[in-house]
Amino acid sequence: MNSKLKPKNIKTCFQESRKTKKAIGQFNFSSFEQIKGIVEAARKMKTPVILGTSEGEISFFGITEAISLRNGYRTTFPYIYLNLDHGKDIPLIKKAIDSGYDSVHFDGSQLPLKDNIKKTKEIVKYAHRKGCLVEGEIKSIKGGSVIHKILFRIRKKGFEDVGIAKKFVKETGVDSLAINIGNIHGTYRGSKRLNINLLKDIHKKIPAFLVLHGGSATNQKDIKKAIKNGITKININTETRIVWRKSLEKSLRKDSIKPYEILTPVVEGIKQKIEQKIKLFTTK
Ligand SMILES: [Zn+2]
Repeated sequence: MNSKLKPKNIKTCFQESRKTKKAIGQFNFSSFEQIKGIVEAARKMKTPVILGTSEGEISFFGITEAISLRNGYRTTFPYIYLNLDHGKDIPLIKKAIDSGYDSVHFDGSQLPLKDNIKKTKEIVKYAHRKGCLVEGEIKSIKGGSVIHKILFRIRKKGFEDVGIAKKFVKETGVDSLAINIGNIHGTYRGSKRLNINLLKDIHKKIPAFLVLHGGSATNQKDIKKAIKNGITKININTETRIVWRKSLEKSLRKDSIKPYEILTPVVEGIKQKIEQKIKLFTTK
């Protein structure tokens, strides 16, 4: 391990990010090329990174496999963390916590508020005993991590209610909150815009770390303003999925059957995309 870098837990990373007004990127993966590209970028930029796995991604990749790779990569660069993204299945969430995930996102946004608070609170209690952080969600963040062909427009109807968010954080004890300030999953025609004034209000009133989901293809000035005004973690998935597919298609046109030859440009493409995002999230 690089002897100059002392291990630190994910909470310390969040605290440092908030203090320095930088955001940590969460990049999702379900293939080895993706995880390799993400970690190589983080190591090169000497910046903490969160590896995200949705329920679909981790049921394909495997919790044990994800933990083993994180642990292995940590011996070369210590600031690699794992987060379960949009967990809804309680046994799966508990399995991730028991296996050593650094944090879990419990998405109870489809439940009535009372039930969401009750279940989130139970998960917080379970996770905190094992040193795992919990991210909560109230207003469901729409869309999916795919390419949407429609034009992006802000849907005010789904915006975060600051009063409810404050009550939710207080009663559940969540460490972080996935907020709705115009963000939506996936890419759209036109870049996505954020309601920064709403974010300022949330940041002023809510002590939890604030998370921006659906970070792909968002207006870059809005991303900078969001980080300046309280966003600590930004989730990116669709943009790296697009790089994965396009670079793989291009590479498969070459006359080779060697996986390490075919996949090297895929890893390189993902690494470059992650480097761009880390730069955007950490420079003022
Ligand atoms: Zn999300």
